[in-house]
Amino acid sequence: MHISEEYKQSHGMTPEKIADTMLDFYARVDSACEGIVKTLAQQGHTLKCMAGCCQCCIDDLSITKAEAAVIEKLFPAFRSLNPHPSGACPFLDDHGLCRIYAARPYICRTHGLPMRWLDETSQTEERDICFLNDDIDILSLEPTSCWTSQTAEIQLSILNIATFGDAERIPMRSFWEI
Ligand code: SF4
Ligand code: SF4
Repeated sequence: MHISEEYKQSHGMTPEKIADTMLDFYARVDSACEGIVKTLAQQGHTLKCMAGCCQCCIDDLSITKAEAAVIEKLFPAFRSLNPHPSGACPFLDDHGLCRIYAARPYICRTHGLPMRWLDETSQTEERDICFLNDDIDILSLEPTSCWTSQTAEIQLSILNIATFGDAERIPMRSFWEI
């Protein structure tokens, strides 16, 4: 994929500006997630997600360079802190709270929602939800009550390719090495 320098400049997709562009992207993701939570609430479904609930903060999640740029922008001194010991996300604190919450990556913003995506092999829709929220019958939900993962993930990949030339993902624990 080739994206001209003029397009990158006009869309703010430069390494210097990517954090701001990503914060706009996150704001749209957050707004869409809030809409789904409200829709679920209107149907009588309350997600168990809350501060301190961190079983989704596992140790093998990954981020893109654009997501790392947001962490660097909002938490410029974070690399001087120690990562959480292995066995949980390195950004987690000792009380089950995210130490980079305002800069948390895309995937963390959708944790807990009913997820739906297209399985590329079978070309069928798949759905899943955190086991703590599985009292919700996700197969009965309208698509608008679920997070459709691929659209935002494609946008995230495009932002990374346009800025860095690739959409490579690195383990979160590698943040301390870049
Ligand atoms: S970045 Fe924060 S929200 Fe995301 S998995 Fe790590 S601790 Fe949890
Ligand atoms: S996704 Fe699951 S583990 Fe994570 S905050 Fe929500 S209920 Fe807790």
